[in-house]
Amino acid sequence: MSTPPQAPSAAPFGFKQAVRALNLTADLLEVLGADSFRAQAYRGAARSLEAQSAAQVSWESLREAHFQGVPKVGTALVSALQEADQTGRFGPLQEALAELPPSLLELLEVRGLGPKKVRALWLAGIDSLELLRQGLDSGAVAGIKGFGTKTAATLQGAVAFALSAKERMRLSSALDLSAQLIRLLHTAHLSFAPVLSGDAARGLETAGSAEVVLSLTAHTPAQVAAALPWPVTTNGPTLRGEHEGLRFALHAVAPEQRGAAEVWFASPPHYRAQLQAQAEQVGLALSEGGLVRGAELLITPTQSDFWAALRQAERPAEYREAEHDGLWPALPHASELIQVSDILGFIHTHSTYSDGAASLSDMARAAAQQGQGCYLGIADHSQAAHYAHGLTPERLRTQLREVAELRRAGLNILAGSEVDILEDGRLDFDDDLLADLDYVVASVHSHFGLSQAAQTERLVRAVSHPLITVLGHPTGRLLLRRAGYDLDLNAVLHACAAHATAVEINANPQRLDLDWRWALAWRGKVKFAINTDAHTTGGLSDIRYGVLTARKAGLTPSDIINTLSQGEFLAFIAEQRQARRSSSSRASAGGL
Ligand SMILES: [Zn+2]
Ligand SMILES: [Zn+2]
Repeated sequence: MSTPPQAPSAAPFGFKQAVRALNLTADLLEVLGADSFRAQAYRGAARSLEAQSAAQVSWESLREAHFQGVPKVGTALVSALQEADQTGRFGPLQEALAELPPSLLELLEVRGLGPKKVRALWLAGIDSLELLRQGLDSGAVAGIKGFGTKTAATLQGAVAFALSAKERMRLSSALDLSAQLIRLLHTAHLSFAPVLSGDAARGLETAGSAEVVLSLTAHTPAQVAAALPWPVTTNGPTLRGEHEGLRFALHAVAPEQRGAAEVWFASPPHYRAQLQAQAEQVGLALSEGGLVRGAELLITPTQSDFWAALRQAERPAEYREAEHDGLWPALPHASELIQVSDILGFIHTHSTYSDGAASLSDMARAAAQQGQGCYLGIADHSQAAHYAHGLTPERLRTQLREVAELRRAGLNILAGSEVDILEDGRLDFDDDLLADLDYVVASVHSHFGLSQAAQTERLVRAVSHPLITVLGHPTGRLLLRRAGYDLDLNAVLHACAAHATAVEINANPQRLDLDWRWALAWRGKVKFAINTDAHTTGGLSDIRYGVLTARKAGLTPSDIINTLSQGEFLAFIAEQRQARRSSSSRASAGGL
């Protein structure tokens, strides 16, 4: 029985969505030139809801109480919030959106552009990123009141970043959309053997489109097109379309060409050219249609057949970028690369103690469900991260007692912290408290704008701390949103190597930080931790994005500290701390 594709249910609505909708409404009202009092009212309500969330009030209880007693949320807002809670659509935001050209929203995404500047641009006829780029190039923007040459110069970089971001999607989006396409075709009872392709198949952090190679036996590309609810254009074996602003491509090939197609469509252009040259050397010609010798199409049902025809060693798709730089012969065989099942410790996670959505015990149970021997390491925020309800020393002590209780109840759980790195590189808790934790993740969450020298010094000091275990999200980048802070990353990684501080590969698909290029360059010199930074139980499955990133860097289980069992992990920390104590006493004995 075939079931039609399900209409997406309304997105869940809660504090995060409400605060976002209220703030965006305020921004758009300012862009529209509305009375500033109206915009302030929405911002006030947003802050008030944030305060409720910070006070651990649940969204459900507020909803049931019709938001009574929430400061700054008046009658009109209550009904708009209730409607949004049902439908996922916040009325005042929809009204404001209807009055603006949709492309104007792109401008609010540009770093350095607030609502007032966006309004000024709009009044000057600039209502899209592309027009802004042109206006910056021509010097027109520098002439708009409130801009000037200096602002225009800083905007240039931010606009280039935003424009390139528009062309890409996150790895997770590409994987999700690919999975959705495959589900749709399954629902339509097509027979095909899907294989992930494109940039995502190489584990690249962003992708130009979501791509799948389909090997069709009983169906035609036209039947594939008919099975999709979205329009597609056909070019050769490829069907292309777009869904919710994300591009996709389905490559429909015959089973005999499948191996060649899998390699071809999962290769970047420079690599395809290299493959074509290698094919020529052995008297073959390669194109998207497959491998041919003269007029004869070579049968390559598997990738192994393809590599054999080319007389080349088989190698993983993840290495295609590194291969271009000549690095790959030194990298491990595909079978040695890290896999999701190798990860045992989920050591950078959050609970309701700080800004997580699940309780400590629920997080621990969810970690245990990830596989045999898996354990949770809780690393809630520290006090300086007040926006994330960071823990005071007293609350961390309370958490430590709960961890001990849960451990007695049989849960595999370790007590850590994601300690803020303060502006001067000190950590946010006293050493006595840090020493009572099983391990310490230290991260930057503030002062992103320091000079390169100051930022580098700050991080070098932090990673040299005798009690740090892992440097969290080392560069602070948010993919397609912001570059990392200005930093001499080599100097920081040198310090990590010198002090045996592990470096995080943050698996949150918005971060994937440390970038695989740096992990590849520092492979063998530092140890890594692949961390989900999960704020929900579901967030633990983000581990796969971090693992893809690590594979791209050629990392094996022995490079990664959270492949250790709970006991081995604790022994590792003890050794790390002991080694630092003896090296610092040697240093002081030597009068250094
Ligand atoms: Zn963090
Ligand atoms: Zn975190």
